[in-house]
Amino acid sequence: MADAGSLRTPIVAVLGHVDHGKTTLLDRVRGSAVQEGEAGAITQHIGATAVPLETISEMSGALVDPTDFDLPGLLFIDTPGHHSFTTLRSRGGALADIAVLVVDVNDGFQPQTEEAIDILRRTGTPFVVAANKVDTTPGWNPQEDAPIQQSYDAQSERARSRLDENLYELIGQLSDAGFSADFYWRVQNFQKNVGVVPLSAMTGEGVPDLLAVLMGLSQRYMKDEMAVDIAGPGRGTVLEVKEERGFGSTLDVVLYDGTVRTGDTVVVGGQDDPIVTEVRALLRPRPNAEMRTEKQFEKVEKLSAAAGVKIAAPDLDRAMAGAPVRVVRGDDEASVIEEVRQELARIEVQTADDGVVVKADTLGSLEAVANALEEAEIPILRAEVGDVAPRDVTVAETANEETHRVILGFNVDVLSAAEEDLEASDVRLFADDVIYQLVDEYEAYVDELERAQQETVLDNIHRPARFRILQDHTFRQNDPAVVGVEVVSGTVENNRNVVKFEDGGAKRVGGLSGIQNQGEDVDEAQAGERVSVAIDGPTVGRGIEEGDELWIDVPEKHAKILEQELSSEIRADELEALNAYLDIRRKREPFWGK
Ligand code: GDP
Repeated sequence: MADAGSLRTPIVAVLGHVDHGKTTLLDRVRGSAVQEGEAGAITQHIGATAVPLETISEMSGALVDPTDFDLPGLLFIDTPGHHSFTTLRSRGGALADIAVLVVDVNDGFQPQTEEAIDILRRTGTPFVVAANKVDTTPGWNPQEDAPIQQSYDAQSERARSRLDENLYELIGQLSDAGFSADFYWRVQNFQKNVGVVPLSAMTGEGVPDLLAVLMGLSQRYMKDEMAVDIAGPGRGTVLEVKEERGFGSTLDVVLYDGTVRTGDTVVVGGQDDPIVTEVRALLRPRPNAEMRTEKQFEKVEKLSAAAGVKIAAPDLDRAMAGAPVRVVRGDDEASVIEEVRQELARIEVQTADDGVVVKADTLGSLEAVANALEEAEIPILRAEVGDVAPRDVTVAETANEETHRVILGFNVDVLSAAEEDLEASDVRLFADDVIYQLVDEYEAYVDELERAQQETVLDNIHRPARFRILQDHTFRQNDPAVVGVEVVSGTVENNRNVVKFEDGGAKRVGGLSGIQNQGEDVDEAQAGERVSVAIDGPTVGRGIEEGDELWIDVPEKHAKILEQELSSEIRADELEALNAYLDIRRKREPFWGK
């Protein structure tokens, strides 16, 4: 094992539902750290913030004794949410070593909480739950930046029990999601149980506890993983590809292993082949400048994991967010290229002969969408990183099934040429930046389409009906015969064939050519109604008699569809007519309509 000097910083990601307080929590961690005053309290990286152990120790008061630790601190990814989390992948897993799942104590589990939990489960990422906004508990007496126990002690009995109620509910929801969770101070084994940290990102109370838990967890369970060869060739993941004035296309990279230096040869995953290029400059935000609006960078000669850095180099236009970055040093270039190629291949989505077209903004999100589609059993014809282009419309048009002639776009734009093509084609575009919503919208569309298709089928199908000629209701003998009837079951529709069963066999009587209900022409008559019908063909007294039971005929193919596919779609009396009709038919021909 490497010595303590080469332990790298664990990478922390923050996830959770929108508005549950992810950004506020990150700001609080950074802000409080800066408030501690000293230079070097935090280090701003590209896309990340490093909080050193000393600062964590100062912020968490008695909770963290720095002599218990030899990890250098924590590196927080600045962009919260599962989108950046899935983008930041390494060797097929999550790049973040540990995650904070932020849940609003009043709101509990919400759709994106569930989605975040799924992602954490799938990537096997250890996490703690920040039960946020405890200060919104009615009657709360805020204790700025205090450890949560101290804050609890300062609350009324009533406020405490109100908060506990919410917290127990949250613990229950976590358990429903398959995670046995408890208040963090009761958790003995963080590998088996999820710790819940009540806190307020607004007032800072409980934040010391969160930092202490994150630090403790990393130290206890991740020390081996953190013992990397920091001086070795750098490995990282592209967070974003950005145009930067004076530098051209640059890469925002999170380095999770080794060191990168100016002049290094690097291999980067591209939209076509891996890109081999040379680092012109390594850039970091200039200290003391505004964090988020930072446009001014300072150049550094080298950087070691874990770190966020902007890499300026030629030929980066076609680099992909979420793709691996590898420094070539010592190893031969060809094997590093092969390594990058293989890692990209691993992300390749399972595609089918027929299916939908998927576009996403990063490799990680593409993979996440593909996973969600696989779970929903929606086949994929093609999946790619990038905005929706005319070519995608062409590909989607080739799908066989109508329900597959769609493009599902996650966090992408539509190129204007593609917009025109979409308009001119029958391809539907679904775009969203929440995966489950994207899948839901598509599934709703499929349902609607299938219902419409079924309705058309139902419209064109002849349904059976049983009706009886009433006594003394012959209005005309023939050409056509006009008689009064009562519909026993099913629906009598105009322009259908009429049959009569004799000796078990069906005998065609004639064609129904008119229905009148109380003098008005109608298209159909329902069970229970008395109407007069005109039948072309027979003569009353010969062929048909008053009192006869007649049927609307059903072609064998229609009977089969009705029985096998639509029996749940038709009315109970229609089903009864169908079954009675089939019974009679099958007495003579047992396999009729099967
Ligand atoms: P995000 O979408 O998860 O990043 O949520 P934000 O950090 O933007 O927070 C959403 C809203 O909740 C903002 O108005 C915050 O001020 C508020 N908020 C976040 N944390 C707390 C908290 O601990 N207490 C209170 N009272 N409000 C909070």
